[in-house]
Amino acid sequence: MTAAAQTTATHTTAPISGWGGYPTQEAQVITPLSLSAYKTYIQQEEVVIARGKGRSYGDSANAATVLQTTYCDHFIAFDTATGLLTVEAGVTLRDILKVTVKHGWFLPVTPGTSFVTVGGAIASDVHGKNHHVAGTLGQHVVSITMLLGTGETVTTSPTQLPDLFHATCGGMGLTGVILTATIQLIPIKSAFITQKTIKAGSLEEACEAFETTSSSTYSVAWIDCLSTGKHLGRNVLMVGDHADNGGLDLTIKEPITIPIYTPAALLSSVTMRAFNTAYWAKAAHNKSQTISLLPYFYPLDAIGGWNKLYGKAGFLQYQFVLPKTDGVANARKMLTQIAQSGAGSFLAVLKQFGPANQNLLSFPIEGYTLALDFKMSPSVIDLLHRLDDMVADMGGRVYLTKDAVMREASFKATYPKWQEFEAVRHKYGAIGKFASAQSQRLGLA
Ligand SMILES: Cc1cc2nc3c(=O)[nH]c(=O)nc-3n(C[C@H](O)[C@H](O)[C@H](O)COP(=O)(O)OP(=O)(O)OC[C@H]3O[C@@H](n4cnc5c(N)ncnc54)[C@H](O)[C@@H]3O)c2cc1C
Repeated sequence: MTAAAQTTATHTTAPISGWGGYPTQEAQVITPLSLSAYKTYIQQEEVVIARGKGRSYGDSANAATVLQTTYCDHFIAFDTATGLLTVEAGVTLRDILKVTVKHGWFLPVTPGTSFVTVGGAIASDVHGKNHHVAGTLGQHVVSITMLLGTGETVTTSPTQLPDLFHATCGGMGLTGVILTATIQLIPIKSAFITQKTIKAGSLEEACEAFETTSSSTYSVAWIDCLSTGKHLGRNVLMVGDHADNGGLDLTIKEPITIPIYTPAALLSSVTMRAFNTAYWAKAAHNKSQTISLLPYFYPLDAIGGWNKLYGKAGFLQYQFVLPKTDGVANARKMLTQIAQSGAGSFLAVLKQFGPANQNLLSFPIEGYTLALDFKMSPSVIDLLHRLDDMVADMGGRVYLTKDAVMREASFKATYPKWQEFEAVRHKYGAIGKFASAQSQRLGLA
């Protein structure tokens, strides 16, 4: 390491993992102090991957050397008249909301946690509860500046180097390092959401309710995965719209933190069945209420380190999407298979997706997506491989930002644009420079 390099970044060696805690890897963590410092490390290090907050669940931000974006967290421009926002890639969605909500602007698309960086969210082309009306975050990105493997900094947008843009949104950091991004925010009149809760006795009822409530901006269903037989798939659907009243003051409560790993046995099927039964009984059908933005969009953010509830071995989150045609019947088959395995999570999240976009490795396709957690064990990996085969046969795919175990063949069968993606990486000097544990597992160059 040169003396100059030492002063432009912090360096540590530490075990790193994604939010699921599996797999972990010993890594050199380089955290550049400024945007201009990245070039040094791109040139100095053989192979790197960008890393944001490590909120992806698996190994997409794991590598022997990672460039962490923590210090590149500055706001560059915010036009309060138009809602056009330019930030460095290490800014978190939470940071953005603290600044923009009071001026009447909200994120066009947001995942279920605010503790993610803009760079990570674009690289995953994240979706929210409004995919059926708004698509993914990438569809609201106006432009990106990024550092290529050649050391060159370029600006890319849907009209400027569009091939690079469509490979970078959803490209899991494999095209280069996103340095800054300009995003078009959406106008809001209030820091509140009007939410309606609908209890649905089955998956079929939930999907019908998605259709009848499709004019609502946001919708998501929590499925009880421990109920079987006629109750299989019973769920609580929550639809929401931005409220008109209540003012623009954002209520921010910092999370209470789970300080230590809990024994994984705490999450036994007995405790979880009791939780689900209570949750189902408590939910009121057709109840409307007004909720502040943060607890509505990020209920899990209230408990810092909730991932530790799964114990030291960690957990795998499995999110797949199934095409709309036969989607409900196929989702039922998947849930049945998971229930029979006895390994499934106690709750699953069901969302509807609108049409796919042009981004080469973007996850959503029109249909239904389910996300479940599995406590880590060797038999769970085998189960997920079997589920991967079922998803592929059904014409669906698994979300890369959640994945930790997918095999190369499943990836290549379900992401048909992977060769186009590799061609763009080759064109812009990314091959051999940007790689993660995930990209190596999936057979990307
Ligand atoms: C509780 C919870 C709820 C979630 N809910 C949703 C949801 O509803 N919808 C959804 O779509 N996702 C969801 N996610 C996933 C999460 O939004 C993504 O994994 C996101 O990418 C994490 O951002 P990060 O900053 O932690 O990125 P990391 O985990 O650090 O990195 C993720 C990927 O982005 C790349 N990357 C990071 N920064 C850059 C950069 N500057 N330049 C280039 N590449 C970069 C990394 O190389 C890696 O491939 C959820 C995650 C959690 C923990």
